[in-house]
Amino acid sequence: MGGKILSVASECVPLIKTGGLADVVGALPAALAPLGWHMRTLLPAYRPLLPHLAQMSEVLREADLFGAPARVVAGQIAGLDLLLLDAPHLYDRDGGPYSDTRGDFADNPQRFAALSWVAARIAREGASGWKPDVLHGHDWQAGFASAYLRYHGTGGAASVITIHNIAFQGWADAALIDVLRLPKSAFTADALEYYGGLASLKAALVTADAITTVSPTYAAEIMRPEFGMGLEGVIAARAGDVLGILNGVDPAVWSPELEPIAYSRETLSDKAKNKLALLKDLKLKIKGPLAIIVSRLTAQKGIDLALSAMPEFLDAGGGLAVLGTGDPAFEIALRALAARYPAQVSVKIGYNEAYSHRLFAGGDMVLVPSRFEPCGLTQMYGLAYGTLPVVAAVGGLADTVIHASPAALSAGVATGVVFHPVDAMGFSGALRQALRLYRDAPTWAKMQRQAMALDLGWGPAAAQYAALYQRLIK
Ligand code: ADP
Repeated sequence: MGGKILSVASECVPLIKTGGLADVVGALPAALAPLGWHMRTLLPAYRPLLPHLAQMSEVLREADLFGAPARVVAGQIAGLDLLLLDAPHLYDRDGGPYSDTRGDFADNPQRFAALSWVAARIAREGASGWKPDVLHGHDWQAGFASAYLRYHGTGGAASVITIHNIAFQGWADAALIDVLRLPKSAFTADALEYYGGLASLKAALVTADAITTVSPTYAAEIMRPEFGMGLEGVIAARAGDVLGILNGVDPAVWSPELEPIAYSRETLSDKAKNKLALLKDLKLKIKGPLAIIVSRLTAQKGIDLALSAMPEFLDAGGGLAVLGTGDPAFEIALRALAARYPAQVSVKIGYNEAYSHRLFAGGDMVLVPSRFEPCGLTQMYGLAYGTLPVVAAVGGLADTVIHASPAALSAGVATGVVFHPVDAMGFSGALRQALRLYRDAPTWAKMQRQAMALDLGWGPAAAQYAALYQRLIK
């Protein structure tokens, strides 16, 4: 058992993160190592990563990588066995991984085709004597990698694509097909063509040996038009190669025992100290439960549903603390809600890891009314912290939270409230039920203990990825 895996992604904790993708890419190597799998992670050398190059050594050179020379350097950085693609013409610029203040970078197709090209070359030929058995790409940014293996030679390497969010598909104009080093002969509906253009995620879905996504429910959902976002037919056609593997969370980062005011299942009453301290800092005065939201503020995350449902919850005595950034319209609406309920609602616009920990430690429930959610991480943090999740019945939310139905309550397995249909009425009903459960203190405490007893670590996911790699190598 075991072998070598090249993981290819645009984000990786702790180096660069905009979403849950980075958490997964950062966690996989350590989770797989005990099972005999050596994973190296290839990332673009964005400007903030350039200081690391000094401690790394060159393992590969490209004479012309979409416009200029480039190289790959290797080294142990932040506990990761890292490969960085040093291509200043593509990555040494201001802004985030995909965009700056003016919007998405116009050359994103080339920037991530470059990452994929180099990944495929390492998989095919190796780099400084290290040749992976499997290329594991993440999302559209690595989508062309398996296409390059298919059309330029695999060198015996197998490939996996993991879909973290099918809403992002890596669209590129059809006229770029030559520039992107893809064969015109493959510009057909059953291969690279996608609604008249190209999409790197579609390219991966038709060329990778296996397709995974980050929860079993999302794996089934994306074969249907409501969730597939145009790719449902492509995925359904490969149903036998599709696998849903639920993400884990890192207990070394997300454990209430590690917070400044520590608590555990056994010392659950100490959770209240976190709530008191938080309410004091936020200058909130509530008698009822404190709900929290830690999220990108977008329509996907159902922020509009929360805005509609919140007044009833607040009028009934609840409180709300929000941490997030995103759509300016939602930021404005949330601030207006805070202005209307100054003693009950706090809204912080921004990205703040430390403060998010305080919210999970001090909150009573975490709200995740997403319209779609491939896996979702914040409901899992909520479970680990006894901050019970109130979630929409979609994707990974449905796979991780057990609804407080009468049967689940009496069986002693309920861990939250799961609602559908995913609309404002559905969410209002869920909040009413959450409030009722909260007021039944023994039941609430029992649910908290049930949630906190779950094993949410990476063990099960690592075992499933390992089994998949093994199957592909055979
Ligand atoms: P997505 O990847 O769709 O944004 P996930 O729930 O899978 O959603 O992952 C989001 C991750 O980002 C979680 O780790 C969450 O705690 C974190 N996060 C989101 N917004 C913020 C914020 N404003 N401050 C701190 N952490 C955040």
